[in-house]
This record gives sequence, structure tokens and C-alpha cells, in this order.
Amino acid sequence: MVAEQRKTYLDVKGLHKSFGKLEVIKGVSFSGAEHEVISLLGASGSGKSTILRCINLLEMPTAGTIEIDGERLPLKETRNGMAVTSHRALSNIRMGLGMVFQQFNLWAHMTVLQNIIEGPVQVLGLSKDEAVARAEALLERVGIANKKDVYPSQLSGGQQQRVAIARTLAMDPKILLFDEPTSALDPEMVGEVLSVMKDLAAEGRTMVVVTHEMGFAREVSDKVIFLHQGKIAEAGTPDEVFGAPKTAECQQFLAKVL
Ligand code: ADP
Ligand code: MG
Repeated sequence: MVAEQRKTYLDVKGLHKSFGKLEVIKGVSFSGAEHEVISLLGASGSGKSTILRCINLLEMPTAGTIEIDGERLPLKETRNGMAVTSHRALSNIRMGLGMVFQQFNLWAHMTVLQNIIEGPVQVLGLSKDEAVARAEALLERVGIANKKDVYPSQLSGGQQQRVAIARTLAMDPKILLFDEPTSALDPEMVGEVLSVMKDLAAEGRTMVVVTHEMGFAREVSDKVIFLHQGKIAEAGTPDEVFGAPKTAECQQFLAKVL
């Protein structure tokens, strides 16, 4: 892919985040074009989840700017850091950002179909028929159309995560954020979820993926970012970062995980 020719779609500049006195993100900047897949790598505690959570405003950045498709997230400075200007703005932003979590976070009291149509009906205002049609098409795509009427507890972890991905896609997000989507799965189920994610990348979805699946990151990413203690220690193409890591931190990390 020729990233230079595409316009910037996600632009994170000078991101800082502190929890009380603990600064965990110390000035992180990166950008991605539409259709790009960016992988965030790094040891546990390096700040990967916090960065994703700042991008979708589950956490409020302490400083910095984030732009999505040319629109700056409406953060306004307050004495204690930054705040979102309004709830409406917040929900608008969340609509453009779909997050898939390690622990699936499906609603246990709802069937698969109900899980998927809830957001489109309640937030996007789709009719129930439209939402069901969309959900059925998405379940087909993630390979579990036959499970639409069961409850999450009746599904394997891999199936639950595929439902969670379908639920996120049903909101038609501009960017998909994945936070270790396969880390809670039994090994034999990792492949089926990675395969769905590969399909999404191949169809041109813009994705930011926190993962420990190095094979996936190397094969699917356009850009790899390695974080160390809240800063970007290394960034580049998969071949650059995996093939010739420059920093000792990245070399040591890769030696452990590969
Ligand atoms: P990673 O996802 O790379 O494992 P995290 O972003 O979860 O790292 O965490 C980065 C650092 O921020 C860790 O030291 C973690 O303990 C700290 N941290 C994360 N969330 C909070 C929070 N809500 N309150 C206090 N510290 C937090
Ligand atoms: Mg994390």
C-alpha cells in the first residue's frame, strides 16, 4: 500500500495521559491513513490499552489532540486536564469508533441477535427489520449465522468474540479498535478470530490492533508501533520493526515473544 498518497484518517498528536501523579502515556504521536492497519505492540503495562481508550474517549487524555477523518475530537481544557464538550459529542465520536475487547463484553441476558441489533436500533435509529437484516448479514460474514438465537453463554470464546466483532461492525464504525481480541481465547480458537480480522483488513477496514499475535501483526499491518513505558520506542513497516528492530527494548521484546 502506498500510504503517502492517502489522506490522514487517524491523527494522534502529543498524547499524554496521567492517572493522578502517574504519567502512563508520555507524548505519543502517530497517524494512519484510511484502510490502514496499525498494530500496537509492547510489554504489559506499556500503555497500549490506555492509548486505545483515549482514542475512543473511554479515558480522557491529559493533553494532546486526536483527529479522526479530519475532525478533531472535541476535547476542551479544564483545570484538571481535558474534558469532552458534551455527551452528544461523545456519543457521536463513539459511533465512529468501534472497540473490540479482550473479554468480548457481550450482554449475557440477550441473544446473539439482540446483542447485535441493540446499538443500531437504540443509537443509530434503524428500524428493527433493518437492524435484523444487517445483523444476519454480519453473522453470515463472521461464520455463525446459525447461532443468532442462542445466548452468549452457549457459545465458545471464539464464537463470542466473532459475535462481538459483528456487533461492532453493525455500528458501521470508521475505525475499528481491537484490544488483545484473542488473548482470552483457548489456543484452538485464536485462528478463527484472526481469520475474521484478516478478512476485515483485506476489505479495507481502518484498524488499530493491540495484539500479541506477532504473525498476524507482521502479515496484516501496514504500520507497527512498539511502545515502551508510555512512549513510542520504534515505529515502521512490519519488515522494519520485525526484521531489523533498532532499539534494545524492541529487540528484547521480540526475542521474548517470537
Ligand atoms: P497495556 O495495555 O500496555 O498493558 P495499560 O494501558 O493497561 O497497559 O496500562 C499502562 C499503565 O497505566 C500501567 O502502569 C497501568 O497500571 C496504568 N493504568 C491503566 N489504567 C489505570 C487506571 N484506571 N488507574 C491507574 N492506573 C492505570
Ligand atoms: Mg492492555
